Amino acid sequence: QAKLAGRNTVHWFSQQISSQLSEKLLLRQQLHDALTQEQLELYYQPILCSDKQSVCALECLLRWHHPERGMVSPAEFIPLAEESGQIVPIGNWVLEQACRDIMTINKGREIPLSVAVNISAVQFTQITFLQTVRDIMARTGIDPECLELEITESVLMADEDRAIDTIHTLDSMGVRVSLDDFGTGYSSLAYLRFLPVHKIKIDRSFVREIAHNKRDNAILSGIVSMAHKLNLIVVAEGVEDEVQAQLLRESNCDLLQGFLYAKPQPLARLVLK
Ligand code: C2E
Ligand code: MG
Ligand code: MG
Ligand code: MG
Repeated sequence: QAKLAGRNTVHWFSQQISSQLSEKLLLRQQLHDALTQEQLELYYQPILCSDKQSVCALECLLRWHHPERGMVSPAEFIPLAEESGQIVPIGNWVLEQACRDIMTINKGREIPLSVAVNISAVQFTQITFLQTVRDIMARTGIDPECLELEITESVLMADEDRAIDTIHTLDSMGVRVSLDDFGTGYSSLAYLRFLPVHKIKIDRSFVREIAHNKRDNAILSGIVSMAHKLNLIVVAEGVEDEVQAQLLRESNCDLLQGFLYAKPQPLARLVLK
C-alpha cells in the first residue's frame, strides 16, 4: 500500500516537472516569433526629480503581448531569453527602439528627457556589445546624454575586469550606466568602490519597508549620504505612497519612480508635462 502511494507520488512529481519543462520549451519557441511578429512593445515609466516633482527621465520596460496568454511579465520571459541567448537580439531591438522613441519624445521639448534601458548581463558581456551600442547611436542619432543603461552586479560574474572596462568605455562615449536593484541579493556597498557607475537604483523591496521599519529607513539615509559622497545619483523605485515619498525626500534621495506617480505605459499613452 505504502509502496504504491510512494510510486504514485514520484509519478505525480515527474509529471509536474515535465509539464513545467515543456511549458518552458513552448514559451521559448514562442519567444522566437515574438520579435518577428511584432508582439514585443516598450512601455515607459516616468522617473521624477524628488524636489521639483517633474519628470526628468523614463525607464523603458519590455512587454510581450502573447497571442494566447495575453501579457507575459518580463520577470517570466527575460530569464528564459537569457538561458537561450535570445536576450541578445531582443535586447538589441529594445535598445534601438528605445533610442528611436526618445528621439520622438524629445522633439520640440525644451529640456530633453533621458531614457533608461535595462541591459541583461548576458547582453552586456557580449564581445560585440559596445559596437552594437555605437551602431545604434549612429543609426538613431541619439545624444549619448539621453541614454542610460541599467545593469545589475551580475555583469561582474563572468569577467569582472572586462565588465569594468566596458563601463569605462561607455562613460567615455557619454553613455551613463546605473546600478539597478541596489539593496537586494549580494549587491552591496563594496561594488561601489570599483564600479564606475553614476547612479544607483534602490530596489522596490527595500523601499517598501522604510515606512514601517526604522532600521531600513536608517540604512536608506546612510546609503544616500554615502552615495552622494561618491558623487552618485540615487533613485528609489517602487514608490507607492506619500509616506514613502516623504521619507525618501527627507533622506535626500534624488529621483523617485513608482506607481504613486505613474505606472509603465505605452508611448502613445504617455503624458509628460
Ligand atoms: P527593474 O528594472 O528593476 O524594473 C522595475 C520594475 O518595478 C518594473 O517591473 C516596474 O513596472 C516595477 N515597478 C515600478 N514602480 C513600481 C511600484 O510602485 N510598485 C510595484 N509593485 N512595481 C513597480 P516590470 O516592468 O515587470 O519589469 C521587471 C523586471 O524585468 C525589470 O526590473 C527588469 O529587471 C526586467 N526587464 C524589463 N524590461 C527589460 C528589458 O528590456 N531588458 C532586460 N534585460 N530586462 C528587462
Ligand atoms: Mg531597471
Ligand atoms: Mg530595479
Ligand atoms: Mg529588478
